[in-house]
Amino acid sequence: MKTITASEITEAVARLCVEAATVLPADVRALIEKARKTETNAAAKGALDDISANYLCAEAESLPICQDTGMAVVFCSVGTDVHIAGDFEKAVNDGVRKGYTEGCLRKSVVRDPFDRVNAEDNTPAVIHTRLVPGDKLTITVAPKGFGSENKSAMKIFLPSAKPSDFTDFIAETVRKAGGDPCPPVIVGVGIGGTVDKCAENAKLALTLSMDSPNPDPFYEALECEALAKCNATRIGAQGFGGDNTALAVRIIPNATHIAGTPCVVNISCHATRHASATL
Ligand code: SF4
Repeated sequence: MKTITASEITEAVARLCVEAATVLPADVRALIEKARKTETNAAAKGALDDISANYLCAEAESLPICQDTGMAVVFCSVGTDVHIAGDFEKAVNDGVRKGYTEGCLRKSVVRDPFDRVNAEDNTPAVIHTRLVPGDKLTITVAPKGFGSENKSAMKIFLPSAKPSDFTDFIAETVRKAGGDPCPPVIVGVGIGGTVDKCAENAKLALTLSMDSPNPDPFYEALECEALAKCNATRIGAQGFGGDNTALAVRIIPNATHIAGTPCVVNISCHATRHASATL
């Protein structure tokens, strides 16, 4: 049994909040750079050049990639041989508070959907915790801006729905979003499960490696089909038109009920940020 203290968790989450806000993951950068090389629309190419210069500047100057430093979504895989000494969720939220304060990151969380009073410390985080074998705790902080979150959508399909119905829905969600979610976007998709599990999977899909294809050839083909349909909208980088509306579509499927199939499309912008650590 390995003991991990609340303060170790707080320090790790604080560091990850700042890292995620300022350093774009290498796989997302690679997609942006590939789009820059292939873009044929001059205005969109200019926007991609600016996006590239922006993330390089952010890392060099330790500044946020975007002014919307997001609501903190925290995925935690807790080994069953880990003993957490202290209050786990408080430790995570203390880390978010510390990271957003010390990193001078914008606090965007309101304490209630109706009174809209800013919590002033970007807490509470949205925390997803699952138990895994082993004696490690892996934490991924994925700050989510709401320019893109607001454009996400859910639909419950009949059991008879065809794969192309799902890719049509994904592309239609991207088309309706237009330039609002700061394209080129990355699209996280959950298919199956219950509504809540499907939405969690859509968010988790945004943290998958963009370097490796889906391990299931069927879902890899579905991702490719959805990506082609998204790019056929020709909304383009920052809405200027062109070839690169979406950089990637990632799908996480889940077992579901005989009577239906939920699908959640979670749109993320070119600043698809996340950072991970293992304690
Ligand atoms: S959608 Fe992304 S790039 Fe656009 S404002 Fe929000 S966080 Fe920033």
